[in-house]
Amino acid sequence: MTDCIQRKSEISEHTIKDCVFCKIIKGDMPCAKIYEDDEHFAMLDINPIAKGHALVMPKKHAETPLQMDDESHCRLQKAVMKVAKGIKEGLLCDGLNIFVNIKKAGGQEVPHVHYHIVPRFITDDQPFKAGHTEYVDMEIDKFKKKIREAIK
Ligand code: 5GP
Ligand code: ZN
Repeated sequence: MTDCIQRKSEISEHTIKDCVFCKIIKGDMPCAKIYEDDEHFAMLDINPIAKGHALVMPKKHAETPLQMDDESHCRLQKAVMKVAKGIKEGLLCDGLNIFVNIKKAGGQEVPHVHYHIVPRFITDDQPFKAGHTEYVDMEIDKFKKKIREAIK
């Protein structure tokens, strides 16, 4: 009984009231759950890019991986790889796309950290192609310099 009360208060402490993924993790909304451990939760995306498209997230609310501490993020990545291997073996797909959208400008709609894992078959159209833009003159050096100097 004490355990239950303790666990409930731990969950609510990390839950953001209006976050749809927090509600799903708490069991207040339904989902097609595929994996869960003490810290992580994975389900199928309700509006998939391909059948089997999964979302892997930490139970503790954070908006993006940039707000997570390195250790928590490393553990999340281990959970992502565990689920990715399950998708690869379970669906016998030829490949996967694994990605995170960060902030609105990066296409993030749900502000609770989640990795997308999308099963891919050799017959699929390739979704993420490079070549949307190009560097002109020595512009690439400016980008290189700005980023290198900001990496801490
Ligand atoms: P984002 O754009 O934030 O990277 O991805 C959010 C993903 O969550 C979208 O692919 C969307 O289809 C999925 N999604 C949004 N609401 C729900 C929901 O209530 N249940 C499930 N299973 N997926 C959701
Ligand atoms: Zn949340």
